[in-house]
Amino acid sequence: PKALAILGGGQLGSMFTLAAKTMGYSVVVLEPDGRAPAARFADKHLCAPFDDKNALAELAQCAAVTTEFENVNADAMRDLAAAMQVSPSSDCVAIAQNRILEKSWIRKAGLETAPYRVIQAASDISSECEPLFPAVLKTAMLGYDGKGQIRVKTLAQLQAAFATLGNVPCVLEQLVDLRAEISVIACRLDDERIATFDPAENHHENGILAYSVVPARLPENLLSAAKQMAVRLANALNYVGVLAVEMFVVGDEQRLVVNEMAPRPHNSGHHTMDACASSQFQQQVRLMCGLPPADTRLLSACCMANILGDVWGEQGEEPNWAAVLNHPQAHLHLYGKAEPRKGRKMGHFTVLADSADEAYRIAQSLHQQLKFQ
Ligand code: ATP
Ligand code: MG
Ligand code: MG
Repeated sequence: PKALAILGGGQLGSMFTLAAKTMGYSVVVLEPDGRAPAARFADKHLCAPFDDKNALAELAQCAAVTTEFENVNADAMRDLAAAMQVSPSSDCVAIAQNRILEKSWIRKAGLETAPYRVIQAASDISSECEPLFPAVLKTAMLGYDGKGQIRVKTLAQLQAAFATLGNVPCVLEQLVDLRAEISVIACRLDDERIATFDPAENHHENGILAYSVVPARLPENLLSAAKQMAVRLANALNYVGVLAVEMFVVGDEQRLVVNEMAPRPHNSGHHTMDACASSQFQQQVRLMCGLPPADTRLLSACCMANILGDVWGEQGEEPNWAAVLNHPQAHLHLYGKAEPRKGRKMGHFTVLADSADEAYRIAQSLHQQLKFQ
């Protein structure tokens, strides 16, 4: 078995590393943080910046490289492509890391986005923005977990928000009438060999994913349309690897609008490890090795709940792990991060149940019991 490489060693890199090792590969992780989760499992941890020439040269000895986050240096990935299999491609990563490119590609694929305008500079703020109000201004790059976005209702607020976000390129998006949020994870090798996991129904708290319920409690035709949309986008991008597509269900007519994508496994796909015939991380391994996607079938209704640093006590007291550990339907995953902080993703658990409703109810109850008090 050959060595595989990954850019980034957070929890996604960690779960990738475990999947790859189970499948017989050794794994090299490039990650500047010496205490990152994947460092515990990697055969080799190159502890260096993502553009470090020596580290990249060593990484290039591996058979293939993938990424666990979108903010890698797309140029470094382009260079690596001369020496090894790179998936997803640097072009796809460059698109997914910039909302301006991302939105234009979504539309190019024939899919709907929320109405928007690009704001490159303060001079792009004019009365032409007004039809979008109430709207949300999002930085084109680097935003996550609802950071890097501000809601605005007037031109004055828009001007202030643009300055607050640092006068950097942004997208001004109309606020749509959200009825539900779903995500589809597509696993693509080529046009013929592409699979999707069933859409997850996502619930956020304070801008951070809190619960993903699968199957999503929405009409079957809407869910199959969502899967087709993800396939269409992956094909348009000639994407190789695991692609997560976030969508909004909008208005009484339940229109599907694409919000954004991630060129990697996604938090809303963590249930696949416990509730599906294959996990999104096994798929990432297979696809980077040129293997076709494995069976994506959902084997049980489930609900994934994120465990944030918020469930620890103010003085760092441990949460009530027994609540989750003693529940026969709950599967606990902890990422091994040293310092719990508010809003920091420390782990998750997945509850399997006879129905989505029941899984969601149990997960909410266990999450409540988990909190230190
Ligand atoms: P992520 O952590 O998912 O990458 P992010 O910081 O990139 O988050 P978005 O996913 O674009 O941000 O937006 C965060 C949340 O804000 C969405 O999940 C949705 O609940 C809400 N939201 C974003 N854009 C809109 C919109 N145009 N209309 C209504 N709600 C929106
Ligand atoms: Mg995002
Ligand atoms: Mg999002």
